[in-house]
Amino acid sequence: MVPVITQDYKTGEVLMLAYMNEEAYQKTIETGKMVYYSRSRQKLWCKGETSGHHQYVKHLMIDCDSDTILAKVRQIGAACHTGHATCFFTDLVKKEYDDTNPLTVFQDVYDIIKDRKQNPKEGSYTNYLFDKGIDKILKKCGEEATEIVIAAKNPETEELKYEISDFLYHLMVLMAECGLSWNDVIKELAHRR
Ligand code: AMP
Ligand code: ZN
Ligand code: ZN
Ligand code: ZN
Repeated sequence: MVPVITQDYKTGEVLMLAYMNEEAYQKTIETGKMVYYSRSRQKLWCKGETSGHHQYVKHLMIDCDSDTILAKVRQIGAACHTGHATCFFTDLVKKEYDDTNPLTVFQDVYDIIKDRKQNPKEGSYTNYLFDKGIDKILKKCGEEATEIVIAAKNPETEELKYEISDFLYHLMVLMAECGLSWNDVIKELAHRR
């Protein structure tokens, strides 16, 4: 029996960890859907068999010493039986962002902005922008873009860093307002290469 790390094939997000035995592996290959071996129930388990939250296989890899499988899948619905998108939603230790993938930061900030839209928070500047509407958001994007132009004239990069951050934040508010995700934008950019 080997552990299987399952990721979203597009974002690389780690969805869950489960186990496969030989038979589960064969069934996975046959069906094109992730089939695990449930250690608690001691039987084969086609992920999604009761929830409908199947995982379609995109890519299977084996590690250096052949004791762990990495699966990249198209996940239907939530990977976790608790209803969370991923089983990993509980922080144990969390360091600052300086050593992480910038795309994660973009996604995290965007998710918070979207959450504010759905669950408005008292005193939130993001909610103030949403309440004012698209014209206000566009005006802020324009202002921040202009501030980037001015800051870029300064040989010190500190101010430019702030203005770019201001701009990106307001841009994400605009994206959330218009229903555009990073995924949409990234796909378009990748497509142009
Ligand atoms: P499902 O395979 O999604 O139809 O779920 C069937 C059962 O498998 C659930 O009731 C859970 O007991 C278990 N299960 C589903 N997804 C997970 C998961 N990501 N991690 C652990 N157990 C799970
Ligand atoms: Zn290994
Ligand atoms: Zn889970
Ligand atoms: Zn600014």
